[in-house]
Amino acid sequence: MLIIAMMIFTSFYTTTLSNTNKAQIINTVKQKSLNTKLLRDMSRAISERSIVLNEMIQTSDPFKRDELFTKFNNIATDYVVAKTALKNQASDKQLKQLFEKLEPITRSNGALQNSAYDLVLNNKHKEVISLFVNEIMPRQKRALDIIRKMEIAQYKAAQSSIHQTEKESEKDYTTLLFFNFASIFASILLTIVILKKQKKNDDKLYYLANTDTLTGLPNRNSFIRKVEKTILYQKQTFAVAFFDIDNFKSINDNYGHETGDKIIKAFSRKIEEYLKPDDVLSRFGGDEFVLMLQSITSKEEAVIVISKLSKALDTTFIIDGNEIFVSSSIGVSLYDDSIVDADSLFRNADIAMYTAKKLGRNCYQFFSREARDKLEQEHATCHALQTVIKDNNEDKQLHLKYQPLINIETGTITECEALIRWINPKGEIITPDEFIPLAEKSNLIKKVNRFVIDEACKQQNEWRKSGINNIRININLSGNKLIFNTLLKQFKYNINKYNLSPADFGIELTERTLHEISSETIKELDLIRQQGMKISIDDFGTGYSSLSYLKKLPITTLKIDKGFIEDLPEDKDDQALVKAIISLGHALNLDIVAEGVETSAQLQFLQENACNIAQGYYLHHPLDSEQLSQLRFVA
Ligand code: C2E
Ligand code: CA
Ligand code: CA
Repeated sequence: MLIIAMMIFTSFYTTTLSNTNKAQIINTVKQKSLNTKLLRDMSRAISERSIVLNEMIQTSDPFKRDELFTKFNNIATDYVVAKTALKNQASDKQLKQLFEKLEPITRSNGALQNSAYDLVLNNKHKEVISLFVNEIMPRQKRALDIIRKMEIAQYKAAQSSIHQTEKESEKDYTTLLFFNFASIFASILLTIVILKKQKKNDDKLYYLANTDTLTGLPNRNSFIRKVEKTILYQKQTFAVAFFDIDNFKSINDNYGHETGDKIIKAFSRKIEEYLKPDDVLSRFGGDEFVLMLQSITSKEEAVIVISKLSKALDTTFIIDGNEIFVSSSIGVSLYDDSIVDADSLFRNADIAMYTAKKLGRNCYQFFSREARDKLEQEHATCHALQTVIKDNNEDKQLHLKYQPLINIETGTITECEALIRWINPKGEIITPDEFIPLAEKSNLIKKVNRFVIDEACKQQNEWRKSGINNIRININLSGNKLIFNTLLKQFKYNINKYNLSPADFGIELTERTLHEISSETIKELDLIRQQGMKISIDDFGTGYSSLSYLKKLPITTLKIDKGFIEDLPEDKDDQALVKAIISLGHALNLDIVAEGVETSAQLQFLQENACNIAQGYYLHHPLDSEQLSQLRFVA
């Protein structure tokens, strides 16, 4: 504001000052020319008066003489007018002094000229000439000399006045110049301050728009731009790696979000320890980090860096006194000729990370076309299953097969396992091992479970109606915490709907699934168990959990995984394991089922070791309901 005022003032002052000085100089020049004119008028009047007097002396014509006399007097008047005007103007000291000298001379000369005129009138020719030459002419000369000096004096006075004005204006201009410089300097200063402030604001905005505030790392947008730039300018190999903290959700759930944030920061710092200056790390959000390794020149070099990182990230962070175990799944994609843009590079790294997760996490994977094709195939399968479920299995793509379980002691069939089958419209079989894990990852498993429950209940109802009333159907249930409770309720509802009993069914749960069972579901299981339903642990021996669930859950049966059976009776380890499982089961008063029995030798081994029940191709393959109903064991 002050600066703007200063600038306005200086420009206004400059204009006023220059106008004043100009006017002053013009005035001085005008005055000078006026004074010069007056002095010229005076000297001309003096000269002309002498000439007229001389003419009067020379002429004898009275009329002419009279005419000349009038002229003689008029010239005197002209002189007086010019002199008076000049006297009023004269301010210069020298000019005034010269005036004082001039006055007595012109006065006496005027008187002498009047005397000369009298002598002319009296025709005293001689006297008048003598007076004219000896008295009037010398005085006239002196008067003209003085007027000449006056002219010089007033010229000098005017010059000095102009000079003075110029000098003063010079001084003013110096002051003005100072003001001008001051205001220019101040405005430059102000501009710098404004620009700096603006830059600071711009920097702040830029920072916020491009940075992940939690870690201070470049955010997704900024990172994508960097990768695009690298693709544009650097045609050599580089790698992009996706990092995902394994089970980060449970860290958040168990320790809270604040600890989760601290883990994220610690995780990013850990990665940074292994980076070279050209490498760029970014946080895309959540527990997802992306790294651009610019420092590598080949896949081999990328493998070295990534394997080091994978090891380093399998670590423990101590956060607020808690020891928190962390590991990560890493997917790497290399930039090569087949990659055209950042998007494909990211997609490939994402696919690789997904593969790493599928392989059990805490590992890294490089992108491969096979993995991508497999993933695409999985997506297609999921989509197709979704369509089948949505269409309520109208074209019967899904159905159940029933594999009998044989009581080894009695040789009778009292139960069977319902196994889902999917045959698509092209007649292709999609095995449950392919689509069940995919359905488990999405919400589709809920609908698959519902289909199986419904179908098994319907089948049991039909068998009942046709007089087969002593075969239990065991169904496989999988899912997560959220769906189990409703699943059991739905199962009970269906059992009632067909007027059946829980004792007509069994459920098979894997050790992995047991983790998903809440205390509320355990109560439901207890209830349903008391009503006669069998509860089996499927694939027993393959899970990682402790055996404490055997005490907590109302389990009736252990199903030894077929992996332990297939090398029987030769494999000593399997022998020992199967024997141990059988005695553990008996100790807990549980039934033992051996799955995947394919040979008589296996069956014999199981028989000798007091295994209760056997299931496998050696006995029966999974059968259609009709085939099963015709088995002679059942009737
Ligand atoms: P599982 O529950 O362990 O089922 C036994 C699997 O072993 C079945 O495979 C069965 O056909 C197969 N099997 C039976 N006897 C033999 C044998 O002697 N040798 C060999 N090698 N295999 C034998 P399937 O039907 O392909 O099912 C595979 C898995 O898919 C099942 O393993 C189960 O985990 C899942 N599954 C099948 N049906 C359903 C279902 O209706 N619901 C759910 N949630 N999962 C299901
Ligand atoms: Ca099973
Ligand atoms: Ca099994």
